[in-house]
Amino acid sequence: MSKLETSLVHEGEHFNTTNSVVSPIYQTSTYFAAENIEEFAHAASAPKYPEFYHRHGNPTNSQVAAVIAKLEQTEDALVLATGMAAISSAILAVVQSGDHVIAQYAHYSASLVFMRDFLQQYGVEITHVNQTDNEAFKNAIQPNTKLIYIETPSNPNLDITDLAFIGQLGKDHDIITMVDNTFASPINQVPASFGIDVVVHSATKYLGGHSDLTAGAVCGTKEFIEKVWRRSLLLGASLSPFDSWLLLRGLKTLALRVRQINENALALAQWLEKHPLVKKTNYVGLPSHPQHDLAKSQMKGFTGMLCIEVKGQDDTEEFQRAQGLLKHLDLFANAVSLGGVESLIAHPASMWGASQSEEQRKKSGITNGLLRLSIGIEHIDDLIADFEQAFAKIQ
Ligand SMILES: *Cc1c(COP(=O)(O)O)cnc(C)c1O
Repeated sequence: MSKLETSLVHEGEHFNTTNSVVSPIYQTSTYFAAENIEEFAHAASAPKYPEFYHRHGNPTNSQVAAVIAKLEQTEDALVLATGMAAISSAILAVVQSGDHVIAQYAHYSASLVFMRDFLQQYGVEITHVNQTDNEAFKNAIQPNTKLIYIETPSNPNLDITDLAFIGQLGKDHDIITMVDNTFASPINQVPASFGIDVVVHSATKYLGGHSDLTAGAVCGTKEFIEKVWRRSLLLGASLSPFDSWLLLRGLKTLALRVRQINENALALAQWLEKHPLVKKTNYVGLPSHPQHDLAKSQMKGFTGMLCIEVKGQDDTEEFQRAQGLLKHLDLFANAVSLGGVESLIAHPASMWGASQSEEQRKKSGITNGLLRLSIGIEHIDDLIADFEQAFAKIQ
């Protein structure tokens, strides 16, 4: 069995049927007919068949999926056009009208909107619970519960869900468990090793790693991935050949990038925690994080995601100072998304003001002074210096 770093570079190479060291981009929508009618019939119906028609599959998509399945220690994986394509296709492969889903208060915002505006409209019932409270998940189980959907660390406040507890709870009650592993990346966290059934990703983030593509992935058993593939065939969100090729290239350096990002984020979090204008630094790797011990027990590294709450005399001043930092930071671009080689900063209260109610925002801890950072691979001294000069301007 090869080690993770080796798999990142070599897994699924057999899908490259040419002699080139780097897999070509199969920029084609369709493929030559097979040798005979039986083979053609097989190509037309086999899940993820890589050489039939692009919506069914593509050799690079198969190669990327092989790498991601290996990382997530699942039997199989499917790559799709975006993280939301992966999340919606995977959930729709589990639930139908009349079913019940248990989810968290805090999720990626579009996942929350998908549950609220889409699933509920199609007759699926959702109960949201506090992810830090194991008993809340247990108490929410109903006879028609089909799915427990979790995200850890969660967006944007970096709360942790107990993977081993949820994995076991699902097994005890015959409920499928699914986790959004985007924030952690499989370098830092492997949910399948804690008994979670399905892992979904926005590969747009750490997996791609260069902010130059959108993609999503679903990881699970061969049987489950076939179900998701059948859904995706109809929903039609296949990953384009070029984005797939970029994702394959990005994945080769995933371990190197994530290790550097983990290191930078911890150092910056330690520095920010001591700054007088910071009310609170929320980083899973700091002992001050309320769930640091749980995080240590299920994560190998603590990611590049961290949040700070800027200090002010009141809500208005905190809002103004948060806006001031956004304005004066030079290296940190004020942009959404995360997980790339470059550091980014965002203000969740303005980002999600339109899609979430005040109450929802409060429940997921989005205050006016809250800033979310995605740390990149720049030199740590420069990242700290950038904050130093920006803080000096907002005093
Ligand atoms: C970005 C993101 C998504 C959605 O992924 P897209 O590629 O934008 O569709 C889902 N979950 C998390 C945690 C994310 O950060």
